[in-house]
Amino acid sequence: MKVRASEELDEIRSEIRSITSDIIRKVQKRNELCKQVGEIKSRLKIDVRDEKVEQEIRQLVSNLSNEIGINPDFTGRLLNILLSESVRLQLKEQRDQIQFENHLTIFSKAKELEAAGKEIIHMEVGEPDYSPPEPVKSVLSSIFDLKRYHYTETKGIMQLRTSIAQKSSNGLNPSNVIITPGGRFAVFAAISSLLVPGDELICIEPVWPAYAECACLVGSTVSSLRTTLEDGWSPDLEKLANMINSNTKMIALNYPNNPTGKILERKILDQIVSIAKDHNLYILSDEVYRDYTFSEFASIMEYGYERSIMISSFSKGHAMTGFRVGYAIAKDSIVDRMAKVQATALTSVAEPMQYAALAAAEVKPAENTKRMKKRLDLICEKLHEMSLSFVKPDGALYVFPKLGEGLSDHKVVQRALDLGVAVAPGSGFGGPYSQFIRLSACQTHDKLEKGLELLNSVMRSN
Ligand code: PLP
Repeated sequence: MKVRASEELDEIRSEIRSITSDIIRKVQKRNELCKQVGEIKSRLKIDVRDEKVEQEIRQLVSNLSNEIGINPDFTGRLLNILLSESVRLQLKEQRDQIQFENHLTIFSKAKELEAAGKEIIHMEVGEPDYSPPEPVKSVLSSIFDLKRYHYTETKGIMQLRTSIAQKSSNGLNPSNVIITPGGRFAVFAAISSLLVPGDELICIEPVWPAYAECACLVGSTVSSLRTTLEDGWSPDLEKLANMINSNTKMIALNYPNNPTGKILERKILDQIVSIAKDHNLYILSDEVYRDYTFSEFASIMEYGYERSIMISSFSKGHAMTGFRVGYAIAKDSIVDRMAKVQATALTSVAEPMQYAALAAAEVKPAENTKRMKKRLDLICEKLHEMSLSFVKPDGALYVFPKLGEGLSDHKVVQRALDLGVAVAPGSGFGGPYSQFIRLSACQTHDKLEKGLELLNSVMRSN
């Protein structure tokens, strides 16, 4: 009896092995076909993502799953993994043919030129050029004597978490706060602890690319809701609702927005929260530019939504990019999950930097806000004189103008760099924005004026 059962087991296992091999062969065939699609799209210069085609295949898989009695959530996740791989292969195909650039690659090029002796005006990165708050200085000089140079609790020192919780919202506890090395790691910790392969993240473009990059890293799929200059960068909420399926797990919001400076109207945010609640979705709200708001700003924390994660940082408002201190606020169980990622990856944020942030947290950076507003006004005035279209930013550090007819971001960015001003290509913030560039206001008035003069000469020489 035992022998027969063991033979049966061997037979079934052998069949499973054979089916698994078949699946792998089919996936290989699928990937090859996707690469061919990528080549054709690259030749035709069309977008890699095609929501309509994806929707059709999603429907087909859902119908088939119901027909043959397999869990559609599972097959949806499986399909998302295949779709992600297809997008990755097709993007690779395109990037192999054109040189891919974003604000970071331009920043590296600008640094190389500087090292070779060329003078560059940096309008490509969002790094304030002014100093951190004064009290930070004395804290840094006392670190050694006070022996504040050890590992800390993974979630961060209690004083800093308490200070952030008290300043952020009524009823928050330190257990709702995790201190991370920059807002960027808070994004990574949130996405990697809450999404699994095959889950779907919705991003509203144009947007800082890190959310999509993190999602891809953990094997999740990204769906992009695209906004336009003509619509004042407002998201179409009907489209948003239609994008959601049973594998959608999170919406990433970034307002004030990088690169447009847009702030969502409160009633739009109300509706997004309501859609998220209906579908039990996480909302990752990256509010690192919340100190630079020039019109009414509603934070996700005002909603008390239990699946929200608010991310902020000392990098921008307090001009402390190199200190690498950011944080996330969420309900305890989400913070605990993020802390596991942080413990695995880096133990804790450097203790001296947490004490520096504690001192900075006592300073409201209102002067920085005023200074940035003046700089952005200057950029807007000059762009207006250059007859470029843009939406005046409600916040953040950037303006996102549209280039004139026939100009592409890469051409303009390269020519501007040759003349000595670095700016960021629009296509680094989403598929269809190659007609835009992002201008950062993190320079003095004089430098901004000079940079915009150089940019103007690039435009006129076309
Ligand atoms: N979030 C957004 C929207 C950003 O634009 C940036 C940096 O440019 C960050 C987060 C990263 O900030 P941090 O320096 O705190 O990692």
